[in-house]
Amino acid sequence: MSDGHTDERTGGRRLPAPAGRFAADRRRRTTLRLSVGASVIGIFAAAACGDNVGPGTCFEPNATSYPFSLPADSNFIFRWPGSYVPVRVYAEPAGELVANTQAAMQLWVGAFRCNEFAMQMVTDSTRADIIVRNPPVLPPAVAAFVVAADSVGACRGVTEFDTAQSALDAPMRVYVSPVAFDSAAVAACYRFVTAHEIGHALGLLSHSPDPADLMHTQPRRRLLTAADRYTIQRLYHTTPTIGPPPR
Ligand SMILES: [Zn+2]
Repeated sequence: MSDGHTDERTGGRRLPAPAGRFAADRRRRTTLRLSVGASVIGIFAAAACGDNVGPGTCFEPNATSYPFSLPADSNFIFRWPGSYVPVRVYAEPAGELVANTQAAMQLWVGAFRCNEFAMQMVTDSTRADIIVRNPPVLPPAVAAFVVAADSVGACRGVTEFDTAQSALDAPMRVYVSPVAFDSAAVAACYRFVTAHEIGHALGLLSHSPDPADLMHTQPRRRLLTAADRYTIQRLYHTTPTIGPPPR
């Protein structure tokens, strides 16, 4: 079993670049950190569905959403555009990482009601939009400003990306790492932390206040609630302010 605590570190924006630097150098790294004690075909067809909430639409009925913008910046909204669907994911072959990543992909793709989104596993990391790795320890945080809360748990995860001029300028990167010696607890922790981090990588940049939701700061299960599904549905029907470069 796995139990324990969650440690969330949310990176804010990099401090303003000194005057005179090139605009391309104005980048910021967004880091979302979590530690817990603990080939799909799709069509971007949102326009085919009504946006009204209710049965038969693209939205979970009788559900409420939690925020999906960056906590420090409500104008920072990211989602993968239709031109990137299916989003390409690489997971390094380490332990159950590939299986856990595939399960997470199926979980999130299954949340959509109108085929708005799809993901595809690739074996070449240089072609990937999202790269998932399982290092023995998380790489050092590089965000210029990090809000951290310490805790103890079986594993932890981090999702990070760089932006420059309002566009992603590198693949989204997800890491999961152990923080306990109990291999069963670590394995269980990886299952829902990987799914939680993939949620971040799809653009859910905030957390849910509801402990039942996968995107709560302390997820406990690899399951989506109605609120998780509704929030990702809303996000993929919202105009983003940040996106990847044209493909
Ligand atoms: Zn998180």
